[in-house]
Amino acid sequence: MAKNLDVIAKIKESELTGRGGAGFPTGIKWEMVKSQKASKKYIICNSSEGEPAVFKDLYLWDNHVEEVVEGIKIALETIDHSTAYIYLNHVYYEKFKSKLEKLCKDLPVVIFEKKWGYLGGEETAACEVIEGRRPIVRKKPPFPGEKGLWGLPTLINNVETFYHVAKIMKGEYKNTKFFCVSGAVKKEGVWEFPAEISVKDVLEKTGNLPSFEFFVQVGGGATGEILLSSELDQPIRGASSIIVFDKVKTDPYELMQKWAQFFLEENCDKCVPCREGVYRISEMVKERKLDLEFLDDLFFTLDNASFCSMGRSVVIPFRSLINKIL
Ligand code: SF4
Repeated sequence: MAKNLDVIAKIKESELTGRGGAGFPTGIKWEMVKSQKASKKYIICNSSEGEPAVFKDLYLWDNHVEEVVEGIKIALETIDHSTAYIYLNHVYYEKFKSKLEKLCKDLPVVIFEKKWGYLGGEETAACEVIEGRRPIVRKKPPFPGEKGLWGLPTLINNVETFYHVAKIMKGEYKNTKFFCVSGAVKKEGVWEFPAEISVKDVLEKTGNLPSFEFFVQVGGGATGEILLSSELDQPIRGASSIIVFDKVKTDPYELMQKWAQFFLEENCDKCVPCREGVYRISEMVKERKLDLEFLDDLFFTLDNASFCSMGRSVVIPFRSLINKIL
């Protein structure tokens, strides 16, 4: 018991926050699950990674699989009576299943294939999928830490978070994050840098700061915000990805159409603001005719009345591109 509490104290002391995008303090999450009274608990290592231009899980499975599994093992030892699910998208399941089976052979770990798209990565939708249903987002609270898989306390962290937990326990954690860089760059890839590094520094240090006129999308290839080249002195939020666009060669309507298609395909149709809102945006973008007043109302509705964060996140790329690029 003392050892378990020591783990949580060390994670809290490190101030590690979840690396899946929401940034919730990891130590508090672990403590919440640990403190629940239940005879069975679950752990999910979320490797759904379904957003365009986000591929850091892939990099971690390829290069640091032992550390990630070590982080899961620490969670299993810390959270009593627990079983862990490694929840992988179809591509990663095919690629890493046997490697993970070998590494986890003596652990209570299930390697699970997610057959659904982006929304299946949302934490409550992930619980639905593992329980054998469609990825429909649950109402929160209760949070999965209290009632997750089969109504039991469930710790859900992403791959990178487990990697950092292993580093904390080895005394090697340095508050870093993994960043994906792609698009109109010289060298696409994933790099580890201090968590608060600016967009500009990542582009400079990776040799990817363009000499042409450009803009970037930061935090995911669908839900990320558009930043101008004059706005790069800020840290990178969300899914820690940066996509560079050549301003002259990029058609903003084509780009918006790509996002609209993504949201049309990936939303679950459960709530009207997101289902109808995305459809309306897509129609306007296709016709290349934006009614800005109408869009403003639509964004307000999506922001305030969507059932889950996906509906709210639709607003970020469209609003920033329309305000800054058109
Ligand atoms: S916001 Fe979109 S993804 Fe979320 S519940 Fe509503 S329709 Fe589904």
